[in-house]
Order: sequence, then C-alpha cells, then structure tokens
Amino acid sequence: MRKHSIAVLPGDGIGPEVTGEAQKVVEAAGGRHGFEVEWVPFPFGAGYWKKHGETLPDSALEEMAQCKALLLGAVGDPSVKPGVLERGILLRLRFHFDQYINLRPARSYPGIELPVRLPEGKRIDSVVVRENTEDFYMGVGMTSASGEVEEAFEVRRELYTLSGRVLARTEPDEPLALQMGALTRRGVERVTRYAFELARKRGENTVTLSSKANAVPFLYGFLDEETKRVAAAEYPDMTLKVQNVDAMCYTLVCRPSDAGVILCPNLFGDIVSDLQAALIGGLGLAAGGNIGDGLSMFEPVHGTAPDIAGTGKANPLGAILSAALMLEHIGEAEGAGSIQDAIETYLERAPIVDRPLELGGGAVCSKVGDSVVRNIGV
Ligand code: ATP
Repeated sequence: MRKHSIAVLPGDGIGPEVTGEAQKVVEAAGGRHGFEVEWVPFPFGAGYWKKHGETLPDSALEEMAQCKALLLGAVGDPSVKPGVLERGILLRLRFHFDQYINLRPARSYPGIELPVRLPEGKRIDSVVVRENTEDFYMGVGMTSASGEVEEAFEVRRELYTLSGRVLARTEPDEPLALQMGALTRRGVERVTRYAFELARKRGENTVTLSSKANAVPFLYGFLDEETKRVAAAEYPDMTLKVQNVDAMCYTLVCRPSDAGVILCPNLFGDIVSDLQAALIGGLGLAAGGNIGDGLSMFEPVHGTAPDIAGTGKANPLGAILSAALMLEHIGEAEGAGSIQDAIETYLERAPIVDRPLELGGGAVCSKVGDSVVRNIGV
C-alpha cells in the first residue's frame, strides 16, 4: 500500500462541504488503486481569524511543507474585510510555495447542458495555464489624493526580489491610482515550458499564448518575445500561436471545442478560466491546481459561495476534479483517471434526480459524492 500525507484546508462557506466529498472520493480511488491517504487538517479561514486574529502562522507552512500536496476548499467570508483572508491565506500559500502555475482545465461532460452548441461528436477539453506569481498580481500599487506619488516598494519572490521607488505626479493635480505589473525572463520561461510540456503530454503540438501586446506593449510585448524565444529554442517541433485575449474570448465562445492549451499571464488567465467554467456548464464543475516545484495546492475555481453554504446546493464536482489533478501530480495517475471516468459515467447515466442541483438535477452535495464513489472502477 502506498501512503501519501496530504494537507487539507477546507476553509469557509461551501469549502468544507465540497472538500469532504473530494476526500471521500480520493479514499475510494485509493482503495481501488493501492494507496492510502493520511489527511493532515488545517483549520484556517474566517472562523480561525475571528477567534485568534491570525490568518496563517509560519508553523503551519512548515507543517504543510512536509506533506505531498495541499487540498484546499475556499477561503473568504462576507463578515471579514475583503482581501484579508485571500491575501493572508490564498496568496500567501501561492507565493510562499512559489506555485507559479495555475492550472485550470475545462472539460464538458455528457448530458450537461451548455450555454453554447458544440459540433456533433465534439467536446470541450481545454486548459488554461495561468502564470501565478507575476503580472498585475504583484501587489504593488498606490493611490494619491493629491496627484503626487513617492513611494518605495519591495516584492519578494522565490526567483528574485523586486524593489524600487515610484515617483510620479499629475499636472494639474488629479487624484490617481497606479498599479504595477511585472514579468521577468525566468518567470516567463518556466510557465512557457510547463505549457509546452503539458501540450505534449496531451498529444497536441500547439500552445496558444493569449495576451494583449498591441495595447500593453512593454509588459505583454516582453511576454510575446520571451515566449517565442523559448518555443523556438526548446520546442522547434511544436507551434506557438499568439492571439489577443479579446479575440481568444470571442473564439472560445464561437468554437470552444477547438481550444487546447491556452497560456495566459496572471490577470487574463483568471478571467479566461472563468469564461471556460461557464462554457462547460457551471462554476461548480471547474477544477484548479496551483503548481510549483515545492508544495502544490489544488482547489476548485469557485469561491466560498456563502449564499448556498449549508444548504446542500453546492456542487462538489469541481473539488473532486481538483483532487484528481492532485492525485495525478503526486504520481497516482491511475487513481486520478478512475475519478475522471467515474464522473463521466455518473453524469452520462444518472437520471436527472441524481445529478447535482447546480446542473438542474435533484442531488445534494453529499449524494453527488456518493454517486461518484459508486462509479469508481465501473
Ligand atoms: P468568493 O468571494 O469566495 O469568491 P462568491 O460567492 O463571490 O465567493 P463564488 O463562490 O465563486 O463567488 O460563487 C459565485 C456564485 O456561483 C455563488 O453565489 C453560487 O451561487 C454559485 N456557485 C459557486 N460555486 C458553486 C458550487 N460549487 N455549486 C453550486 N453553485 C456554486
């Protein structure tokens, strides 16, 4: 029996409900494929913050680092100032463990009504590879009521520390805000390599870079150039297509089944992957992974959905699919595949009443998890 120690941070809102179902399914896949998971639970989120005034202690990061992966639900709460938990937990984890890839696959499933019509016999099977540490998510910005800004900044990343001073003013005085985006050569290289390797693994020979170099020439012009350089030098047998992000959104809606590996800078990747989630029929179906060379973290694309927390309406399939990505990442590809297949079989065969409520069915969160478990190995 192979043993894996996995950190689990269920978080807030529907996080604990969907994560519980994902754990149940992982255990069932383990029973079938010869591995066992030891869950190492972490209580962080809104409740912990309110009680202890702490988002995520350093000691927890050290404990998590001993695990093979982290399974996360969602963090955030309407009663906590926006950003406190997201920055204190989610972004802290991403940056601390240098999870430089945000992987967001989108697959359509049989029997799920889509907002778009696919050509006969085609399905959506695309994946956004979103750079996860740079671009406009550096957290460097400032506002000025007087129109004059003079401020030092420092951003620490695993690859480098970026520091400097911003000195700017409007003439005549005009209140303003500035936000800085940065990309670096090594930052672009590693995400580009990941996207090409993934395309190869999927049996494809194309990566489409989706940015906006014509309108944001310094940042995304650099991205285009560096991506093209890596593609030409290291993947000469493969093709790099470059498409502006606006055109990408248009073609994704018009011809969603044509998309494969889409490489995006941080901000556009966030937006394009939500569009993909809508195209496959529901936010509750969309899975995600934050991947780095150290601890990687797997979480559904949706947030805490406080409006449906505790009602049983949460669809756990995105969390279950995220757990499947996690299994693949830790070397349990068969277990991951069996979860994918189980979801496919379940959605194909289940009568309406057994499908997730989010997808027009009648099954609450735990029933959906049970159905997936029943279909493992079928
Ligand atoms: P957060 O601020 O944590 O992102 P949010 O409510 O603003 O939370 P989401 O959690 O992404 O954003 O949810 C947006 C809406 O989509 C929710 O109000 C909910 O109705 C629906 N939703 C999200 N996830 C699911 C799910 N797993 N199952 C069913 N519906 C969902």
